[in-house]
Parts: sequence; structure tokens; C-alpha cells
Amino acid sequence: MTIDLILQKKNGEAPPPLEPLIYDLGAPGRIGVNLPDPDVPEAELPADLLRATLDLPEVSEMDVVRHFVRLSHLNYSIDTGFYPLGSCTMKYNPKLNEDMARLPGFAEIHPLQDPASVQGALAMMYTLQSWLAEISGMQAVSLQPAAGAQGEFAGILMIRAYHLANGEAHRTKIIVPDSAHGTNPATTAMAGLEVVEIPSDANGDVDLDKLREVCGEDVAGMMITVPNTLGVFEAHIKEIVDIIHGCGGLMYMDGANMNAMMGVAKPADLGFDVMHYNLHKTFSTPHGGGGPGSGPVAVNEKLADFLPGPIVTIIDEGSDEEPPLYGLTMPDKSIGRLKAFYGNFGMLVRAFAYIAVYGGAGLHAVTKHAVLNANYIRARLKGVYPMPFDRICGHEFVCEGHWPDAEGIHALDISKRLMDYDFHPPTNYFPLIVPEALLIEPTETESKEACDAFVEAMLAIAQEARENPDLLHDAPHKTPVGRVDDVRAAKQLVLCCRPVLDPEA
Ligand SMILES: *Cc1c(COP(=O)(O)O)cnc(C)c1O
Repeated sequence: MTIDLILQKKNGEAPPPLEPLIYDLGAPGRIGVNLPDPDVPEAELPADLLRATLDLPEVSEMDVVRHFVRLSHLNYSIDTGFYPLGSCTMKYNPKLNEDMARLPGFAEIHPLQDPASVQGALAMMYTLQSWLAEISGMQAVSLQPAAGAQGEFAGILMIRAYHLANGEAHRTKIIVPDSAHGTNPATTAMAGLEVVEIPSDANGDVDLDKLREVCGEDVAGMMITVPNTLGVFEAHIKEIVDIIHGCGGLMYMDGANMNAMMGVAKPADLGFDVMHYNLHKTFSTPHGGGGPGSGPVAVNEKLADFLPGPIVTIIDEGSDEEPPLYGLTMPDKSIGRLKAFYGNFGMLVRAFAYIAVYGGAGLHAVTKHAVLNANYIRARLKGVYPMPFDRICGHEFVCEGHWPDAEGIHALDISKRLMDYDFHPPTNYFPLIVPEALLIEPTETESKEACDAFVEAMLAIAQEARENPDLLHDAPHKTPVGRVDDVRAAKQLVLCCRPVLDPEA
């Protein structure tokens, strides 16, 4: 069955059908599968479970394959082109990791199996936990969280549990800079703590004076995104950590974008107490369309006992002849479970394969290339696109998509026009503290030629913005669906399998 999203054009016209609906393909009686004869007695289905009106498509295998392959060609993907969606790390992921995740020994085990029968899988998880501990410099890791945001949630619950265990229930405030990822304040609020926002200074760093003003006995900790969402490394990270520790708070690092620092700097060395990774950003797993995710948390000795569980531990060291015996245990003061079973296991396999193949020197090179690519594009666009923070960036950078001499042109027009040049647009209107923001992240997997082609398109669009602004306003021109009315689409979302022009009519 297929559900086609019907988009409405600005002028109210129905868009031309992109593809025939699968319901309109095939013919009565046509079938796409050959089922073997049943090897159990046939039984009547209860009549009240059968729907006479259920109009299912009757199609051959070829009808189905062609239909879905045609639909897939309407999609833009990292396998077809450059995808500089800042803060999302849409990089090419080695296909090898997909093969590893599909190995029957990993893909066909059941989470309720006796640990004795899945020692290989547990050994893989144990090794991944220790690698993630080493990359961060932290002491212990839990692979439980199912996404970056859930890792944050775990981190804040651990900070809260730590203060409660120390008899400091009055610590209820989490400081969050305005350059933090939006999930940071959301996490704090979900955990029942209070968000205290700190403004950034003119360089895009945390305003230290403001930080000192709010630091006190009621502070549970601070969440800070590194590099921040402006793409820059806090210039005063050591001072920030000292200020927070000085008033008894703990430091949380949002490490979703570790491809800006792994193999170069360790969060624990910077003084952080807890962080999360986004395996699906830094350590492979394609994650378009909202999933799947994996957001392991890494902590120092202060928080190790509070980790969400179960985590994999060595139950018996083994000997020269016997391999170690791995088991699943709950840390002493664990904040509990966050997810059924053991996290998103298939993604753990991919991350394991990724780290195993690259090794320490490889991860260092990943970071260098991610940062180099971002800075290369930033330097080439400088002077053409306004840049609020003119400084070396991490894995991404932000520029502004508007000019005083190109009235009426917005970041959105630039992004839509990029689609005509066969590029996926960068992130728009985020971070919120930059007007008309375009957040550009090329990632480490792009070649110089790919970066150059993107720059050339951006430069051409900057010129078009002055010479032929309507080209931008009406873009995209080449895509299967033209400019849509996103406000109306959001307010009157139509998810149905027949084109409907006005859902209220
Ligand atoms: C992507 C991202 C998150 C959220 O991760 P999810 O897996 O989408 O929950 C948090 N912080 C930063 C900085 C991110 O880039």
C-alpha cells in the first residue's frame, strides 16, 4: 500500500500527479507472490475480522518494483548528491557497515536469548562501549538511548540523580546558551528542571559575565553544544567549565557532532562530566526521514553509577584458554531503562564497524577533513554571503541568505534555487539567533570537486539574486514538485491516497 503526500501549490491548483497510485495499477486477480501450500490445516477466518470493502491493489511483482523504484527516483538522497544539511551530518556511509549489520549472527538473534548464546553480540557492545569511552576520555558508557535527544534526557536525569544523592535537591536549574541545539532546552524542561538561557556575545561565544551572574547554589549544571550551533568552538570553554564546577554544577556536552573533534580533543579533558554521541551522525547509519537513531551517553566517575542500563560488563575475566564471559547489568544507582532491550542494536553494529575500519588515526583524519571542508567552503563564500562570525569554524558554518541590495530575497529562495542546481539545500532559519540563517555542513566525505561545485552554484545564485530575482522566488523549476505553500501544507496537511485539492471542500 502507498500513501502519497499531496502538496498544494500556492495558486490553489492541484499539482500534476507525480505517479499513478498503486491502486490504479494492476488488474483483478493479478498477484505478485507464490505462496507455498499450507503445511497446517486450513481454518476459516472469523467473519468479523474480514472487511468486504477493503480495496487492496492487485499487482504483479513487476508492478510493485517499478512503482516504488519510480517513487524512489523522486527523492533526493546522499547516494545521488551533495547534502549540506547543517547540524544533521548527512554524510556518505560506507555500504560495508550495512553488510555488517545484516550478518545473520547479528541480524537474526533475539533480544530475549540467553546471554550465554549471544556472547559475540555482547562482546561487540562491550568493545563499542570502551571505544566510545576512549574517544571521549570518559569512564563509562551506556548504549541505551535511541537518539541524541534521548541521550540528553539521560544525561540530565543523571545530573539530577547525582545532586539528589548528595542531598542537594535545591539544584534545579540548567544553564543553556542561546546557541545550543533546540533539543537542549527541550530536554531540560522534559526532565522537570528549569532552563536558564544565556546570551552569546558578539563573537558567538557564551557571555561569561552573564554566566557568572546566574551561577549559584540552585544550579544543577550546564548543557553546551560543542561546537555550538553557529559552528564555532567556544573560545572560553575552560573558564565556562570552571565557573560551573565552581558553583557545584555539572557540565553536559552535547556531542552530536563529534566529527568536529574526535581524535583531536576529548570532552573529559575539557572538564565535561557527561556527554552524548549521535552514532547516526558521526559513526555512520543513514538517518534521513527521521530515523533510526542511537545516542549513547558517556560519563566520568561522578556519574558512572547512575547510567541507564542494562550495560554490558565482564562477568568473568576468563583465562588463557577461556574467553571472558559478558553479561548485562544495571549500574548501582541507575536512572533505569530508557528503551526496550539494548538500544538500537543494528546501529551499534554499524558504529562498531565504522570505528574498527578507521581506527584512531582514521577517526582523526575524519575530523580533519570535516573541519577542512567546512572552512574551505566558508572561505570561498566569504565576501559574497554575509557571515555573522568571521572565524575558523568546526564541521559547519553559518552565513546569511540576504543582501541589502537584493531586496525581497530570503534564505528560503536561495535554498529553493539550489535544488535547480541539483543540490540539497542547507539548513534554513537555524540557528535562530542568526537572521536568514543558512547552516552549511559539507561533511568529511565530500571531495574538493564536490565542494567547489556547490560553491559555484552558491556564487551563481548570489548573482541571479540581483539580476533575475524571480528566478529565485519561483524556484525550484526542475524538481517534480515546484514551490509549495508550506504554511498551508503544515496547517492543512493532507495525507491520503487520492489527490484532494481542498480537504474541507
Ligand atoms: C542532531 C542533534 C541533536 C539531536 O539528535 P537526535 O538524534 O535527532 O535526537 C542534538 N544536538 C545536536 C547539536 C544535534 O546536531
